Amino acid sequence: MNNRKKNNGGHSLKVIPLGGLHEIGKNMTALEYGGEMVIIDCGMSFPDDEMYGIDVVIPDFTYLMENSRKIKGIVITHGHEDHIGAVPYLVEKLNVPIYGTPFPLGLIRNKLEERGLKGRLNKIHAGDTIKLGCFKVEAIRTTHSIADAICLCIDTPVGKVFHTGDFKIDYTPVDGEPIDLAKFAEIGQKGVLLMMSDSTNATRPGYTRSERKVGETLEAIFARSKKRMIVATFSSNVHRIQKIIDLAKQNRRKVAVSGRSMINVVGLAEELGYLKIPKGILVDINQTKNIPDKQLVIITTGSQGEPMSALSRMATSDHKAIKIKPGDQIILSSTPIPGNEKLVSNVVNLLFEKGAEVIYSDIAETHVSGHACQEELKLALSLIKPKFFMPVHGEFRHLKAHADLAEELGIKEKNIFLLENGDCLELNKRQAKQLHGIVQAGAVMVDGLGVGDVGSIVMRDRHLLSESGLIIVVASIDQATGEIVAGPDLISRGFVYVRENEDLMDQAREVAVKALDKCIHFNTRDWNTLKSAVRDDLRRFIYNKTGRNPVILPIFMEV
Ligand SMILES: [Zn+2]
Ligand SMILES: [Zn+2]
Repeated sequence: MNNRKKNNGGHSLKVIPLGGLHEIGKNMTALEYGGEMVIIDCGMSFPDDEMYGIDVVIPDFTYLMENSRKIKGIVITHGHEDHIGAVPYLVEKLNVPIYGTPFPLGLIRNKLEERGLKGRLNKIHAGDTIKLGCFKVEAIRTTHSIADAICLCIDTPVGKVFHTGDFKIDYTPVDGEPIDLAKFAEIGQKGVLLMMSDSTNATRPGYTRSERKVGETLEAIFARSKKRMIVATFSSNVHRIQKIIDLAKQNRRKVAVSGRSMINVVGLAEELGYLKIPKGILVDINQTKNIPDKQLVIITTGSQGEPMSALSRMATSDHKAIKIKPGDQIILSSTPIPGNEKLVSNVVNLLFEKGAEVIYSDIAETHVSGHACQEELKLALSLIKPKFFMPVHGEFRHLKAHADLAEELGIKEKNIFLLENGDCLELNKRQAKQLHGIVQAGAVMVDGLGVGDVGSIVMRDRHLLSESGLIIVVASIDQATGEIVAGPDLISRGFVYVRENEDLMDQAREVAVKALDKCIHFNTRDWNTLKSAVRDDLRRFIYNKTGRNPVILPIFMEV
């Protein structure tokens, strides 16, 4: 035992963020000590505008694959996509044990089942401590915009690491289970080596309002409405859905649920006891026609304006069961996630055009954030009192603002670390040191069934194709004589409308003919030389004529 202690004494703790820094999305952090590793969360992010055709983005698992034997388990803080969305992709490669509270675990189970996977899922509850190798992980009740969220206090051989997960300080949460601040204080008393804390709202002064506030706003709308109501919100916000169901009951309305993820989550949440749905109140969305407007509320997905979501389909008259009509009362119980503003305002405009009354967060307090603002962040920092601090979960401006707050509270600047994904914070009991770019940690893009097969070269082609389109030059060439037997023919996509530009295309064809003739005249029979001659001449001609640079693809066949 003594010997082992001595050996361990030489190690330091490595904290390695694989995602979630300089971005809001794909949160994942590895904690490594000696030959053992635990992972916190395994999230995905949505592609940015430059990632043409990409469905989702996940963290780079290379480092985990290389160190798979060390991994003792993944601990999940809560069930949002930016924390669990990449789990199926990891389980496909490494079936490591996953620990989480019942709700996120249920969401993960559904995701895995959809892909025919079976994970090693282990239930924990707030208040539990589990031992994963040399790490003792304690789950602490917190409040966030999803049920069953936890913070983690991880006891390591060099000291305690406190990870807030996503949180806000809600003293009056809908489920009556407030954040366990007493536990924060108790842990702070014992001494915390490193704190990692949610930076999403670090630029916002004050406090985030309680979820109860949204309840009050909705209550007022329900009380005065005599119309059919349609409420769009995040399917994962079970507490808000509960509130809507409760209000429906009070106001003698039936509830119909629309949207795949909403139906899935409502089913799961009821099964696990997070949603209490009074008997007889739920009706099938296809059976709502005969229910009087003032006796119906529809809960739907699409609060982010997602084009394929139920609310968007209602707005564009593509929804099978629900047709928007003048007088409908539509509530967007959400705010747009940065980047989705345009999508949301498109949907709101369409709904107004159909004569509906739309209430959204600019008009009434139909949404509150799930993340702590400055005063709450300060309280958490003051209770935990860490020696070292590392802001997480945010773009760089959020991380920086959070670092400034910590400094204001007396944490020394040299003890605050702003890491990037792939960096490593190496800690022992006394010191911490930031190492840059230690681990491969980029964005792995998922397109359809392909994971990571779309890299920068494919993306560059997609970019070029999307900007100026494509011209294909097809010709058949006689093997023996080198003469053109057929073609060249020009086919274009996304470049110009051919029927209105026949002259241009004819001239372009002439340019291709000349380029080929020239090569044949000089007896060039090397395909690559031939192709680049045609490509170069054509490119020059088209640029001079149109100022555009389409992708030019020569295809020559030997006959
Ligand atoms: Zn979250
Ligand atoms: Zn998050």
